[in-house]
Amino acid sequence: MVFAKRIDHLKAYKTETSPAKVKLSSNELPYDLPEELKAKIKEEIAKIPFNRYPDPYATELREILAKLWKVKPENIILGNGSDELIFYLAIAIGENYEAIAYPIPTFPMYRVVADTLGRPVYEVPLNEDLDLDESRFAEILENYKPALMFISYPNNPTGNLFSKEKLNRLRKLVSLMVSDEAYYDFSGESYIEKALDPSENIVVLRTLSKIGLASLRVGALIADENFIKELFKVKLPFNITYPSQVIAKVVLTEGLDFIKWAVKQVISERERLLKELQKMEGIKVFPSKANFFLFKTPFDADTVHKKLLEKGVLIRNVSYLPGLEGCLRVNIGKPEENNIFLETLERVLRELKSSKR
Ligand SMILES: *Cc1c(COP(=O)(O)O)cnc(C)c1O
Repeated sequence: MVFAKRIDHLKAYKTETSPAKVKLSSNELPYDLPEELKAKIKEEIAKIPFNRYPDPYATELREILAKLWKVKPENIILGNGSDELIFYLAIAIGENYEAIAYPIPTFPMYRVVADTLGRPVYEVPLNEDLDLDESRFAEILENYKPALMFISYPNNPTGNLFSKEKLNRLRKLVSLMVSDEAYYDFSGESYIEKALDPSENIVVLRTLSKIGLASLRVGALIADENFIKELFKVKLPFNITYPSQVIAKVVLTEGLDFIKWAVKQVISERERLLKELQKMEGIKVFPSKANFFLFKTPFDADTVHKKLLEKGVLIRNVSYLPGLEGCLRVNIGKPEENNIFLETLERVLRELKSSKR
């Protein structure tokens, strides 16, 4: 084969694409854009000169995001999803032989990009309470000096925010901490202010994917101006498509009320779903600051997952991840979708319980 050995060993990213009546598997916003907004998008799309390359700096979109996040456009670089920015960080930060550290279980992309580039990784298992194992993490950072540390904040797939005190001590031991805030709108917790101060050694990732625009593939990295300037050197010139720039601009100006409403709905459903899941016999649900829940069933997770899908409900099977035996992840849907999920889960648990007897 002509491929590098490290590529030979990789597996292509696989995600569950089975069609289902109720899809609660990818942490998407359950609401599509309102029709009026779509009509406006249609108008703006028609004005695009399709023969032209898009703005490589995505200037107007960065200005809009800068206002929203109370930073300067110079503090922002955009990626084709935050996935692309995770890739850029792994390409640009430290030497290739220097490691990347992160707690596990977490977002799989940190590992995927490290493996793709052949960079060593240090994966530090979370404690039983799903918080950081501070002493083990500190040991890794001090002894092996990884070039950067990825922190999903809140963490996917566990849903919790790691202890800020622990993070603030740990980040002093590493030259760069990446605070991946894909679920910021649902948690309200951020390192964005610290990201603007180069002496803090923090950069922040955000994305439009979880607030209604997963289809566009727009992610953002927020950092000190000089950091952004350096990262622009590795950015592919036209990574944010013209249509994506145009649509994001429309939605982030005229659609803000819709996004705010939808996020509020999800948060209120999160609290309701938590209570309902807590009431269910045998289910252990982990409290979440994101738009999804991790929960554990007393039955084989593969079976529960499959039976839910047979009944039209698709959620994410995360039981193969280290420390998550028996666990599944479900994102918060519309109230009616959440009801279907709850009822279907109850039915599946009842079936499994009676077949066990
Ligand atoms: C969903 C998610 C992302 C988003 O990736 P995009 O490429 O922007 O869609 C990033 N980080 C975490 C932890 C996520 O869960």
